[in-house]
Amino acid sequence: MAAPDSTPTQVTTDIDFSRSGIQTGSLQVPYSHDRDAYGFLPVPLMVAQNGEGPTVLLTGANHGDEYEGSVAIMHLMRELKLDQLRGRLILIPALNFPAYLNGTRTSPLDKGNLNRLFPGDANGTPTQMIAHYIQTELMPLADYIVDFHAGGTTMDYLPMLFVNRPLDSEAVVKTEQLIEAFGAPRLMYLDNLESDLMIGSAARKNGTFFATGEFGGKGAVGLEGLAIVERGIKGLLHALGVVPAFEPKDRPAPTRRYSFRKEHYIFSPVPGIFEPAFKLGDQIKTGDLAGLIHDPYRPWNEPEHVYFRGSGLAVMLRTLARVEAGTCLGHLAEEEQPPV
Ligand SMILES: [Zn+2]
Repeated sequence: MAAPDSTPTQVTTDIDFSRSGIQTGSLQVPYSHDRDAYGFLPVPLMVAQNGEGPTVLLTGANHGDEYEGSVAIMHLMRELKLDQLRGRLILIPALNFPAYLNGTRTSPLDKGNLNRLFPGDANGTPTQMIAHYIQTELMPLADYIVDFHAGGTTMDYLPMLFVNRPLDSEAVVKTEQLIEAFGAPRLMYLDNLESDLMIGSAARKNGTFFATGEFGGKGAVGLEGLAIVERGIKGLLHALGVVPAFEPKDRPAPTRRYSFRKEHYIFSPVPGIFEPAFKLGDQIKTGDLAGLIHDPYRPWNEPEHVYFRGSGLAVMLRTLARVEAGTCLGHLAEEEQPPV
């Protein structure tokens, strides 16, 4: 394994992470450009610390057009009372803040896709500098990280928590406790399929417990996903003893478990207009029709038929009709039994 990057970060902050109390402020990412030579890009955050307990880092809008986690974190910021806290919370509603303000997946400043730029670069573009700061400054502080995603503008997801499949019995027990505490209706095992350039991979290398998830999409705030995230955060903070007062009042149905493989994805073979033949939540069998791709230049022609190559639950559907050859149209997930 490569040694951790020891290049000092260029990002500064007015927050003192070792101080007790509630602090609000920003990470300050230097950005020199035509309209401002010496300025910085703010990434707003809250750090709350009281007494002994673990450090939990909650982040949203790693992709700038994914909102449920971001909104839930903003709600939490306003609801949190310092005397309820046992430990430290680091709350960042929008990790890629320039992308968030722009309402886009990637940053308008450098086209940076933050979740494909880890471990980042201390002296790189703004998005690379943010990734480097997260990896070298924030991760070492955190015992638990939950990075909330959604489908963004181009996709819609059934709300699901994602975790890496734990590999030893101790990790199974810990992961199961946190899955139950979060109480999501569905869980996806990532099976270490994520790219090395993603925040989850960075967390794994750091030895930090990491969860993520897809909680909606369409570039909107989905109310079902938002409710799942809000309940999940409270359940988790209660179970970890960080905010004992957040005792969940409900007892959600047991979390259903899923995993996915390459053949669960469908892609458009041609450019055109995608007419889906399925909805989120449908049970799909191998060979079922996934959709039609109409040819805008020869609209009288029979459309291209796209078929599923696997079976399972439809968990993701593309939201935009205009597609290119190679565009991902959706994916399935296969249900599996919880560990005994
Ligand atoms: Zn995302």
